[in-house]
Amino acid sequence: MRSWLGGVAARLEAERDFLTQLDAAIGDADHGINMHRGFAAVMRKLATVDRATPGQLLRVTGRTFVSTVGGAAGPLYGTAFLQAGETLGDEGSFGPRRLLEALRASLDGVQRVGAASEGDKTMVDALAPGLAAYELELRTGGSLETAVRAGREAAAEGTRATVPMQARKGRASYLGPRSVGHQDPGATSTALMFAALEQAVLADRSQRFATGSRTRASRR
Ligand code: ADP
Ligand code: MG
Repeated sequence: MRSWLGGVAARLEAERDFLTQLDAAIGDADHGINMHRGFAAVMRKLATVDRATPGQLLRVTGRTFVSTVGGAAGPLYGTAFLQAGETLGDEGSFGPRRLLEALRASLDGVQRVGAASEGDKTMVDALAPGLAAYELELRTGGSLETAVRAGREAAAEGTRATVPMQARKGRASYLGPRSVGHQDPGATSTALMFAALEQAVLADRSQRFATGSRTRASRR
């Protein structure tokens, strides 16, 4: 969980200007700044948190995000992290199925707060297909590694699919038809989180392999 959150922070830093440019086209040019500020605060906070469970780390992330990021993204992502953290509870480890439940709780949280459906040109257009592809891969016998890859690919595809959409939620919806032809910033940041998830899973796996660790990840 720490490796994933650190990876998200690094990607948000690298993509800050890109995310802000996307938001300049159909919003108020602050999405990269918001996300970077939030995750920089999360990283500072996590550095002071010792021996936390994955669920606790996510809850700290959600609370920090809500308190440091305004606008739409703060409460939406904050809720997603909090809900995922609640779902993982206080267990010391989690497996592919619990991760699926956490992703689903995130999507439910985002939709409860923001009331966006797929096709509205929001982060839901990356999160919903990313989650669906992850779930399908697990259900058809895939491993955690292939499931997070499928999730990353579908989230990226969902993000590209926001380009021709007209925004029906958030600031971009004020533009009406003029929001068509631009990629949604929030979907883009969500896809980046799926990419970091795949990277964290692969790093965890190679670390286990290198150390010959017999403490296997939970199967649940
Ligand atoms: P703000 O719009 O307040 O400036 P940000 O620029 O940080 O906040 O985030 C904008 C992103 O938030 C959009 O690109 C979109 O993906 C997402 N968003 C906006 N409204 C909603 C909503 N109701 N449901 C889900 N996501 C939303
Ligand atoms: Mg904005």
